[in-house]
Amino acid sequence: DQYGIKAALEKLGIKSENLGTSTGAQWIDTGQEYISSYSPADGALIAKVQQTDQEAYEKVVVQAQEAFKKWKVIPAPQRGEIVRQIGNALREVKAELGKLVSYEMGKSYQEGLGEVQEMIDICDFAVGLSRQLYGLTMHSERPSHRMYEQWHPLGIVGIISAFNFPVAVWSWNSMIAMVCGDVCVWKPSEKAPLSGLACQHIIAKVLSANNLPEGISALIVGDYKVGEYLSRDRRVPLVSATGSTRMGKLVAQAVGQRLGRSLLELGGNNSIIVTENADMDIAIRGALFGAVGTAGQRCTTTRRLIVQEGVYDEVKNRLVAAYGKLVIGNPLDEKNHVGPLIDQEAVKMYLNAIKKVKAEGGKELVQGGVLQGEGYESGCYVKPCIIEAENHFEMVQHETFAPILYLLKYKTLDQAIEMQNAVPQGLSSAIMTLNMREAEIFLSAAGSDCGIANVNIGTSGAEIGGAFGGEKETGGGRESGSDAWKAYMRRQTNTINYSTALPLAQGIKFDI
Ligand code: NAD
Repeated sequence: DQYGIKAALEKLGIKSENLGTSTGAQWIDTGQEYISSYSPADGALIAKVQQTDQEAYEKVVVQAQEAFKKWKVIPAPQRGEIVRQIGNALREVKAELGKLVSYEMGKSYQEGLGEVQEMIDICDFAVGLSRQLYGLTMHSERPSHRMYEQWHPLGIVGIISAFNFPVAVWSWNSMIAMVCGDVCVWKPSEKAPLSGLACQHIIAKVLSANNLPEGISALIVGDYKVGEYLSRDRRVPLVSATGSTRMGKLVAQAVGQRLGRSLLELGGNNSIIVTENADMDIAIRGALFGAVGTAGQRCTTTRRLIVQEGVYDEVKNRLVAAYGKLVIGNPLDEKNHVGPLIDQEAVKMYLNAIKKVKAEGGKELVQGGVLQGEGYESGCYVKPCIIEAENHFEMVQHETFAPILYLLKYKTLDQAIEMQNAVPQGLSSAIMTLNMREAEIFLSAAGSDCGIANVNIGTSGAEIGGAFGGEKETGGGRESGSDAWKAYMRRQTNTINYSTALPLAQGIKFDI
């Protein structure tokens, strides 16, 4: 235990066997099977968590409904005060939670810490927001009438999260939802349930220290079947789901069938355009981190590099050289650049994608493969690879959640933008150029069709202050900063008559 995992688990309240269903400080024994959480870093069993069943889910939702009655009438700035305390509680365990995220999910310790920092930042953002849930005032067409709109809490927010951001995505949703007056039921990924469990312990302590009722923030654990409890439940007006496009389509159908709201954050197929006017040092560094960081397991990972033909060879040679220097190994060891994939299933998908793209005509510039030997016993470590390809290849159109970078060539900027947009997904995009005209075209209505478009920055590593999300098969949802909070509230338009008459709108007369 050279990395201090045992001590971290202890501080986070995680035992070798844990219940997984909680309304806050209270935990429900469902008698169901346990999910074993293995670390992709070394293949070791970290701990087990019990799954939620329908009966326990029922208890959780009834408790959440009760809690909502109380929570929604607490003034928003007072709800903000609770979130402020949650932010402080997270500051106290930043190192331990960052370590658990790294060990359970496989991202580097630095990125694990970064994820917890993002949680702290969104708490701060939400505290400020708790005094800024503004509505508009309109001018009524009728005399002595006042018209305005206000935003009210929505109810239970169901949160379904993916394995790759096992804690931050929950906080983007829950901290905003909490200041909005909602209560949350969270189903973390079955591939990273311990990170969810740790967060539940942290938040429950703050809520009970403030004598708040059970049910404001609940946890349920399991696979897609437990996720379906939320998507099919009429008592859950909003389901915020992060994960694959395949999952998003199923959740959207289930929620849509009952005319609920869904907020979807799905797969990306992000590209960087490198023009002949790029600062090459920035372009190479941006592409490198974007493509191999988190072993290619970010929704915003750079999957396609679209390079102008005049600088194509230079980019290719420099990138190949940089890949040669990558150190792959245990994510907790800070000398390593690239950690493992989440599990062996992901390794199979990675190998399959390489095989398929080669069959389509792709040329491997930096060879992929699975690493074996000392330090790689989990079988989850793969080599980041670069493949020369064409944009229309089936595999290039598809998001493979692994470090495979496709290198594509273009002649004119119009062509580059067309290629960038010609995929089913629409999450993140970037252009590397020092030419103002190129940059502005890329950001204009004629440019990138993505939810995120950057200049001289890679595709990954968004800040919490902006609205995060993407178009097309990425699902259209927006989370985190800007006015993303509006998705978590219901808007009410109010018209008040303080005249002595009852004038009707549109000048309609209705006298008897
Ligand atoms: P996944 O789709 O396999 O699972 C995500 C979550 O959905 C899990 O909690 C899972 O149990 C649940 N789920 C699956 N099917 C469901 C169903 N039918 N009903 C209800 N719940 C269901 O995704 P993953 O492998 O954990 O994560 C990787 C994917 O997530 C990638 O596609 C990545 O791009 C995407 N992602 C997107 C964002 C974003 O903000 N756009 C962020 C992180 C990850």
